[in-house]
Amino acid sequence: MLEKEDKDFLYDEDRIPFIEKFMVPQMYDLFKFGGDMVKDDERGIKRMMQYFSEFFTEEQLRENMERYNLPKMFEVVKGYFKKEYGYAGEDITLSNRYQHTINSYIYNDQDNPAFVHIDELFESTVIAFLLAMFKWSKDFDDLDIYGDCFRYVLFLMNDVCIFGEMQGQYANDSLLQLISGDVQILPLAEDCYWTIVVFSLAHELAHAYLADIGKSYSEEHPEKEEFDADMIAYHIVLKIIMEQEDDKRILEKYTYLAPMMYMDFFDLYYYTDRVLYKSRFFDPQHPLPIDRKKRLFALVNRDEYDFDTVDGNHLYGGFLDVYDEYRDQILLKMERGKLNRVLHTERRNRMRGNGND
Ligand SMILES: [Zn+2]
Repeated sequence: MLEKEDKDFLYDEDRIPFIEKFMVPQMYDLFKFGGDMVKDDERGIKRMMQYFSEFFTEEQLRENMERYNLPKMFEVVKGYFKKEYGYAGEDITLSNRYQHTINSYIYNDQDNPAFVHIDELFESTVIAFLLAMFKWSKDFDDLDIYGDCFRYVLFLMNDVCIFGEMQGQYANDSLLQLISGDVQILPLAEDCYWTIVVFSLAHELAHAYLADIGKSYSEEHPEKEEFDADMIAYHIVLKIIMEQEDDKRILEKYTYLAPMMYMDFFDLYYYTDRVLYKSRFFDPQHPLPIDRKKRLFALVNRDEYDFDTVDGNHLYGGFLDVYDEYRDQILLKMERGKLNRVLHTERRNRMRGNGND
């Protein structure tokens, strides 16, 4: 098996033509050459069938979409809030338009109807991120896949997260191509995705619940509210995982660490921004993902959450290997000037000028 250094050596562009056969095609340009694409279920089904028709039928796909969708998950989360906290949040609605943000939030001015916003960009980015990370983790020793997955994650962080651009169709096709024929990756990513969706919905509803019970936070420590919302959200995720019977299961047990992956996703996003554009994450309201993750771990380790965690730990272990690899590679490549082609420095500076940073 190749060690990390060997891999980096292989990928060193100065060594072409000697190792030309190991070079991956330059798909990065293809990934980012898409333009906007907003969710379209019918088109989504067609494209999925294009890549996976040998593994499942269109009917199965439709059944699955009927069973797993955002409004349904929102209802599940509300049901659990009522059960666990006696809070119904009945008037709170769901908003799911494309607003160029991967952050979810709750709008609650205490006067007008409150709504939880989960952006279409969040949906498409998180699922694509999980697909690329799991594929990379699974086929780590396949140099073509390694390179494509690295570039895809970089594209997601650079173009999609930092600049809020929806992946285009070409990007999407490239990703589907990359995972086509791999029936293992698709359900892994989907299962973890739904756990993250439930976590996010519950986190936002938790803000409404905390306001409803009159919990107040000091101005010096607004981040405490975020930690509290995380604790409530993760409690709900774990309850759903523990209480559901296998045939009616909504969230799979082995996805119990998906909220950690979600924190890692944000961590990679901020890290990429720092490496590529020297940006510093600073948001007094929102604590660092790594601190949020620590608290989530403290919660899940409590005795009251008792279920089989072996597969979940394995999956997360593989994920973390790739997470480390991405961080190492992006830094190395940046230092060696290998990423100049994908930088949008001027555009990033303009964003800062607009007070977006
Ligand atoms: Zn929050």
